Amino acid sequence: MSFTKLGLMPALLANLKHLEYQQPTPVQQQAIAPILAGKDILAAAQTGTGKTAAFTLPTLQLLLTQGEKVTSNCVRALVLVPTRELAEQVHESIRTYLHELPLRTAVAYGGVSINPQMMNLRRGVDVLVATPGRLLDLYQQNAVRFNQMQILVLDEADRMLDLGFAEELNALFSLMPRQRQTLLFSATFSGPIRTLAGKLLNDPVRVDVTPKHSAAETVKQYLLVVDKKDKTDLLLHLLASRQWGQVLVFVRTRKGAESLSKKLLAAKVSSDAIHGDKTQPARLRALHDFKAGRIQVLVATDVAARGLDIEQLPHVVNFDLPTIAQDYVHRIGRTGRAGLTGEAISLVSADELDELIAIEELMGIHLQRFDEPDFYAEHRLPETVLGVGSIKKPKKPKKNKAAAAGNIHLGDAFNADSKPQVVAIRQVPRLAVPGRHKPKPSNAKPR
Ligand code: AMP
Repeated sequence: MSFTKLGLMPALLANLKHLEYQQPTPVQQQAIAPILAGKDILAAAQTGTGKTAAFTLPTLQLLLTQGEKVTSNCVRALVLVPTRELAEQVHESIRTYLHELPLRTAVAYGGVSINPQMMNLRRGVDVLVATPGRLLDLYQQNAVRFNQMQILVLDEADRMLDLGFAEELNALFSLMPRQRQTLLFSATFSGPIRTLAGKLLNDPVRVDVTPKHSAAETVKQYLLVVDKKDKTDLLLHLLASRQWGQVLVFVRTRKGAESLSKKLLAAKVSSDAIHGDKTQPARLRALHDFKAGRIQVLVATDVAARGLDIEQLPHVVNFDLPTIAQDYVHRIGRTGRAGLTGEAISLVSADELDELIAIEELMGIHLQRFDEPDFYAEHRLPETVLGVGSIKKPKKPKKNKAAAAGNIHLGDAFNADSKPQVVAIRQVPRLAVPGRHKPKPSNAKPR
């Protein structure tokens, strides 16, 4: 996948070309389009994944294309970081990505004189990178105002909390306009980070490039949010558009298995079902036909499918989530066997929230979620956070706002391997930033 597919404007693309960035890293692939669409982001990404460009590029584009000219002492986008070193680094990256585009930027952190920082803010800045303590000082001295703020970025949020910035952060949040876009980046998701996310983010898009591998590492698991009534059509669409071969589809009930298999047959997809109401010979025949490749889709209930050994099955679909979370583990174990890669795709509707929470808690992972274009769910699945369950009450469904407006298109997201370790990362060629002073190094908590 290329940067052009992410919706970035030509001027920024030209800068990336100049930097010789060939293709977006996974976090960039997942975060840039939703940010451009105005969504809040909750991202698990560590340093070295390309996260700075992931939040900077769309932020710059939004500032260049939307909002009013900045007025004195105001900021339009604020990037909060834990340390002065990171503040410098992020600011330098922002300057690099911006190159000669017409936005004003500044950096502010403690341990150095506050006066030059106050001077820099006097005309207002489009992007300010700051540590929380110094920013609060600047606010208390009337050097900075937040009434024009469009975007708030928390970079390395976990480190900010670890360094004891919770109080300063809370004070700052209370001063900021509620109507804004918030992007939260953190390497880890401890309880306090989840609480912070629940408080600050509005229906965020989850971006996760550091999954915990509690399931088979070779199985890519994700879910598609879909309205219950559209599940059969979505399955047919996936079979055709992804050109899947054989697929094992799990459903919750015997009746559901029979009914889905019939619908697939009616749509000219070769299919059979195995469930407890079928005689043993009928079940064996269905399994035999599936193994011999005579049928494309085998629809199964959990009990009937236990212990099935089907080799080299690339796709397992959870048409319904199981009521017993442990069954999910058995289901996805049907793919990704013997070192081969596989995908486990769950079609999840809003009424399956409790089952989803139980599965995520059991597995210790947050399943990445996507919308399939043309199947955007009217009934939204509330966001979940590990250890907390649902953090948001279901909102009134929005009328068909295109999936592109927020979530990621599946095909794009998985074009590249989403493991951060395998991403080729290059250093940004540093451009000179005129008039910037070097901070005194210090290990102390910056103000
Ligand atoms: P970060 O994780 O933001 O600290 O970025 C780590 C390094 O990756 C920085 O030196 C970036 O210049 C570099 N980088 C970020 N995105 C890309 C990309 N798409 N292609 C090549 N290098 C990149």
